[in-house]
Amino acid sequence: MADEQKLTTRAQDFSAWYNEVVLRAELADYSPVRGCMVIRPNGYGIWERMQRALDDMFKATGVENAYFPLFIPESFLHKEAEHVEGFAPETAVVTHGGGKKLEEPLVVRPTSETIIYAMFAKWVQSYRDLPLLINQWANVVRWEMRTRLFLRTLEFLWQEGHTAHATHDEAETETRLILSIYRRFMDEWMAMPVVTGQKTESERFAGALRTYACEAMMQDNKALQAGTSHNLGQNFARAFDVTFQTEGGGTDFVWSTSWGVSTRLVGGLVMTHGDDGGLRLPPKLSPIEVAIVPIYRSDEQRARVLEAAARIRDTLAAGPAPIRAHVDGRQNMTPGAKYFDWELRGVPLRMELGPRDLDQNQAVLVRRDTRVKQPVPLNDVARTGAALLAAIQGDMFAAAHSRREAHSVRGPITYDRFREIMDGEGAFIYTGWCGSAACETAVKDETKATIRVLPDPEFRSAEAPRTCVKCGGAAVTEALWAKAY
Ligand SMILES: [Zn+2]
Repeated sequence: MADEQKLTTRAQDFSAWYNEVVLRAELADYSPVRGCMVIRPNGYGIWERMQRALDDMFKATGVENAYFPLFIPESFLHKEAEHVEGFAPETAVVTHGGGKKLEEPLVVRPTSETIIYAMFAKWVQSYRDLPLLINQWANVVRWEMRTRLFLRTLEFLWQEGHTAHATHDEAETETRLILSIYRRFMDEWMAMPVVTGQKTESERFAGALRTYACEAMMQDNKALQAGTSHNLGQNFARAFDVTFQTEGGGTDFVWSTSWGVSTRLVGGLVMTHGDDGGLRLPPKLSPIEVAIVPIYRSDEQRARVLEAAARIRDTLAAGPAPIRAHVDGRQNMTPGAKYFDWELRGVPLRMELGPRDLDQNQAVLVRRDTRVKQPVPLNDVARTGAALLAAIQGDMFAAAHSRREAHSVRGPITYDRFREIMDGEGAFIYTGWCGSAACETAVKDETKATIRVLPDPEFRSAEAPRTCVKCGGAAVTEALWAKAY
C-alpha cells in the first residue's frame, strides 16, 4: 500500500525527512500561492493547543487580548528609523483598493508595533493608565524569498504582545517575565528544552533596546529561535508620541515591550521529537492522546469490540484528568495500516483492542516514543493511561535535553576545531567572545554559525571562558554559537 512507504530517514536527508513528515502526517500542505502554506486540521489542532496554553499563561499575568488592523499606513513604518530599515525590504504593499489607486499605500503588517503605538498614544494619558498589557493573536506577512513549511512562510500565525510601562525597570521585568513564560511553555508543554539569553546587537529586533530569546536544538544540531521578547525602551513611544503624566506631575514617554511566538513552533516540535517512523507528539499538545484501534475478523466481533472501544473512550474522557481518546473505526484499513498511520501522526499512545483482549478483560497500550507495549486491565485504563502519558511527556523532555547536552561543546576550543565542528555535524558551542561585531561577523562569514544568545547565568559554563574564540583577545562574555534556521 502506497501509504505505507517508508519515510526518508533523518540520517539520509534531514530536510527531506522534515518535509515528508509535515506533508504525510497532514500537518500542512503547499498552497497555490508561492511561499504560503495551508495548515491542515492535524497541524492546526496542535497550534490550537499551543494557543490555549500560552493564552492562559499570559492572562494569568494580567495581559488582555485585542485585535488591530491587518493594514498599516505606509508612513507609520517610517516613523521609527531602525524599524523601517529592518522590515521594509520584506513588506507586501497594497496600492489599489476598490479599483482605485490609494492616496497612501497600505502595508500588510509584518508586525504591529507601529499601529499599536499609534493607538497607545490615544489611550495612555496618565500613570494611572499604566501598565497597559495587550496581546493579539493574528497573521502577519513577510515577503521571504526562500520558504519552508512552518519554519519560514510568507504569511504565518503568531501572537504579539505589546505592553507599556511607567519605568524602564518595569518594562525590563515584563520582558523577562514573558521570556520565562515562553521557556516554561517550551520545556513543559513542548518537551523542547531551550537555552535563554540576550541577543547581540546584530541579532536584536529592529528598534529594540534589548532582545531576549529562547533557542532550541533541532535533531540536525541547528538552532531554532523559538520565541523572542524585546525591551523596546522608549524608541517607539518617541516615534509615536506615547506620553503620560507621571505621578510627580511631569510628562514622560512610556517604556514598552513586545514579544512573540509563531506557528514556527509546530516545525520545532517536528524537528525536536520526530523519528524515522514520523512525528512524535508530547501528550500535552497532541489533539489525540490515545488512538484506539479495534481488531476483529467477523461482524459479530466487530460489534463487540467497537462497543467496548467506545466505552473505554468515554471512561478516559470522564476521569478527573480527561484523556483525549479516539476510536479508529475506519473500515477499509487493516489494524497494521492503522498502527503505521498513528505512528506517522505521532499520537503518544495507541491502544490495541481485540476479542481475545476482551476475554481477558484487558487492552494493550503501545507508547509512540519508545514503542514499548504493555497489557492493561480494562478497569484500570484511565489511571494507567494518565500515568503513561505523564511519563511520556517527561521522558520526551529528558531525551531531548540529553540529546542537546550530548551535542553541546564547552571548555577551551581552538578556532580551527570550532570550524571543523560547524563544517561537520554542528553543535551548540559555548565560547568566550570579546564583544566585537567584527569577530561575530567574521565567524558568521566563515562558518555560517551565529551567536544565538549570550546565555542566561544558569546556562553558562561552570568556568567562564577567558578568551574570544575568534581573535584570542580577552573575553567579555560567554556566547552560544550555532548554525540556525
Ligand atoms: Zn574577538
